[in-house]
Amino acid sequence: MKNIQVSFDDTQTAFASKSDKDLLRAYWLFKIIGFNWLVRISPPLVHTALALRLPIKGLISATVFKHFCGGEKITDCESTIQKLHEFGIGTILDYSVEGKESEADFESCLQQTLATIDRAKGDAAIPFSVFKPTGIARFALLEKKNAGFMLSQSEQEEYARFIDRFDRICKKGAENNVPIFIDAEESWIQSTIDEVAMEMMRKYNRNHAIVFNTLQLYRHDRLAYLTACIAEANATGFYAGFKLVRGAYMEKERARALKMGYASPIQPDKSATDRDYNAALRLCLSNTQRVSICAGSHNEESNLLLTQLMQEAGLPNNHPNIWFSQLYGMSDHISFNLSKQKYNVCKYVPYGPVTAVLPYLIRRAQENTSVSGQTGRELKLILAERKRRGK
Ligand SMILES: Cc1cc2nc3c(=O)[nH]c(=O)nc-3n(C[C@H](O)[C@H](O)[C@H](O)COP(=O)(O)OP(=O)(O)OC[C@H]3O[C@@H](n4cnc5c(N)ncnc54)[C@H](O)[C@@H]3O)c2cc1C
Repeated sequence: MKNIQVSFDDTQTAFASKSDKDLLRAYWLFKIIGFNWLVRISPPLVHTALALRLPIKGLISATVFKHFCGGEKITDCESTIQKLHEFGIGTILDYSVEGKESEADFESCLQQTLATIDRAKGDAAIPFSVFKPTGIARFALLEKKNAGFMLSQSEQEEYARFIDRFDRICKKGAENNVPIFIDAEESWIQSTIDEVAMEMMRKYNRNHAIVFNTLQLYRHDRLAYLTACIAEANATGFYAGFKLVRGAYMEKERARALKMGYASPIQPDKSATDRDYNAALRLCLSNTQRVSICAGSHNEESNLLLTQLMQEAGLPNNHPNIWFSQLYGMSDHISFNLSKQKYNVCKYVPYGPVTAVLPYLIRRAQENTSVSGQTGRELKLILAERKRRGK
């Protein structure tokens, strides 16, 4: 059955929140990051320029940062939050500082995440909070635990602090009725994250889903894992929450598996990932009495499929257990057209100091090079809308 309500071709709706000037800036931005060679050489150039204290922060701030981020602090994101809310789209404040290693950094990330819960409490404009487990613990510690090695006394204490931070975020989410997304990361730390996430679901998802774990369907074992999680939720009576994504670390996963000589956890090809992603949507949709989902995807077909599955199941567009999500600055044609039809839509709005969110921005640029095909799509839509506006 085709869902006749939703069309992602409606650029007027897609860019309703964008002025002519915003559109022009987005056009040039996607045009520039469409050059693969430029994106490839940019990270070392930017780092060198920053190390030499060249005044490029202003340039980054006014271009990529402005397009993909809400601001440096939560308060800077207010206008973005309100603008999205006007169009029925929720904001997920995402403190996007990555790759930090010190206890002070982990504490600061914890405080930021708790502050996003405070800001979200009782506000329909901010339906979820989110955190990355490596924002609150050392990657190498999680890796060691994941590999099954014995932790030293001090590492055990460090691990206990990780669990404590994890628990404080989920507990605060439960107390304030703000559901929490736990982002998924590399497979060699993910089993540890899954274990803790499941523990938190058992503890806090007694009446509805507060804790959402993320499943990356580019892994060939995730559909079976999802099936097992849902079976446990059904058998023991807690409410499961999942953010379903395809997965962001494919090259890194394959390279490590090759280097270390183990079988890659990644699907053999894109169509296998697509197949499992769509199967995961179907599986969750047939368990909506027990399972809540957020489809985190820019894939038009998967987003449409989810609307069709909802229609077939006779579920209202704004069913409280079903959410669609995209990243701020990307795929507005999906977000805004879905929200126009009253589907629940939210966007990750990253924030943090400009220089600290650089790794996030570089990933967005890499994802949007012409190789990945995203730029072509964004540019085509922006051009169509500019033409419609007579520009
Ligand atoms: C709201 C939101 C939250 C997110 N949270 C996370 C998160 O917590 N953790 C995380 O890892 N990612 C996360 N992502 C990123 C996500 O995993 C994808 O990288 C990104 O969204 C692209 O996938 P897609 O479904 O949008 O679209 P598509 O463009 O259809 O899919 C691209 C994806 O398909 C997969 N793929 C591509 N080529 C192949 C191949 N040859 N073989 C197998 N698979 C292939 C890869 O996963 C690739 O990223 C999130 C994305 C969104 C929108």
